[in-house]
Amino acid sequence: MPVQQRILAIVIMFSAQVLFAQNDKPPDGGGGYNITHADEWSDAGHTFIISQLQASKLLLQKAGKWAQPLQQSVSFIHPTRAINLTDKGYYGISNYIDQNSAYPNQILDYNCGNRTYDQASGYNHRGTDIFSWPFPWTKMENNQVEVIAAATGVIILKSDGNSDKSCAFCSQCNWNAVYVRHADGTVAWYGHLKTGSLTNKLVGEVIQQGEFIGVMGSSGSSTGPHLHFEVWANDNYTQLIDPWAGPCNPAVTQSKWAEQEPYRVSQLIAVMTHNAAPNHGCYGQEVMNAANTFSNGARVYLGSYYRDQLSGQTAQHAVFRPDGTLYTQWTQNLTSTFNASWWYYYVDLPNPAATGIWKYVITHNGKTSTTWFAVNAVIEYTFTGNGSYFNATNWSNNTMPANPVPAGIIVRITASGQNNCIVDAPVTFSSGATLRIASGAKITLPNNLIIQ
Ligand SMILES: [Zn+2]
Repeated sequence: MPVQQRILAIVIMFSAQVLFAQNDKPPDGGGGYNITHADEWSDAGHTFIISQLQASKLLLQKAGKWAQPLQQSVSFIHPTRAINLTDKGYYGISNYIDQNSAYPNQILDYNCGNRTYDQASGYNHRGTDIFSWPFPWTKMENNQVEVIAAATGVIILKSDGNSDKSCAFCSQCNWNAVYVRHADGTVAWYGHLKTGSLTNKLVGEVIQQGEFIGVMGSSGSSTGPHLHFEVWANDNYTQLIDPWAGPCNPAVTQSKWAEQEPYRVSQLIAVMTHNAAPNHGCYGQEVMNAANTFSNGARVYLGSYYRDQLSGQTAQHAVFRPDGTLYTQWTQNLTSTFNASWWYYYVDLPNPAATGIWKYVITHNGKTSTTWFAVNAVIEYTFTGNGSYFNATNWSNNTMPANPVPAGIIVRITASGQNNCIVDAPVTFSSGATLRIASGAKITLPNNLIIQ
């Protein structure tokens, strides 16, 4: 780069920093997600599970369903998946296995960090805790985060029927769980599942890698919805396997994960608008207050939700009017590291405010995320005609919605006579847009209806 250009670049960088510094704005609320989503097993609870597992083994042996372990290495896929979620992420990791057998408060995870825990009782955390985020209880109610088999194996025990709304450690409560034995003799425990959500497959049946196991829940000794994924080397249950390869896990030289994700995956996983501050907490206390329609002078709560927020990061926030002009912008300094975090700012709309679809944009870690909200109306488009979706005369007021359909827009397909809405080219519904098909109305799809 020539010297003059270099100087110019430095000046621009410097100016940008000064500009951002002037626009630093602390959030109006939020913080680290303070439920760490952990669990604890008493020795008695652990012994009880192993006695159940041994009893089940005897039955399976009698039925000829207990194979000799093969000399092969089983590798795991990530054991959760999101259903019908449009957010950029849905989970984080709160705890790994405690590699330090001393206790209490002598903890070490596979990466030589302290994302694990132990207890004065002598319990050293034995699994990987994967929690859903944000609004984990809502996700549980809506069955939006599923636990899937990390590897193919035989189901050797299922436990169900225990309450799934735990929000604290408890010594006398059992979890709902599925236990799977792999071809190499290793056994995976999938714990804290939602009551009544377990796979219909029976003990003794094979479950394939990636197949549904249950819905993520908070049964047993648990502080919130999460999966406790625990792996044993064999059915003696004396040798634990920590699947994560790292400098403080000498037992594993090659990761047991087919693709091991990094220790920190720093991501803005959801951007939302709310009509009041959201609330996070135990079951029943979680309040989303999600809204995407506002009126003149309204206060819009702008929510952002992170996985692995890292100290020293910044987030650039901007709100745009319907005509694309900038309404307001600021910089947020993220000053702490959290497994999960949430923040909100509120912005007061002018009175009158421009009618239409406003945009809220955040840039974090080099990636830009956008959400939309409608001002001064729930903006509706109604298909009343018969024929092409793309023929404006088939829409009331001869006005058809934009494609993709932005958030905050409601598209109604109404029923009268022989109406048939023919989607003869792809139509995309953005996250936050709504499609309502009246009872008796017809929609024909020679092309794709894409829901984002
Ligand atoms: Zn755990």
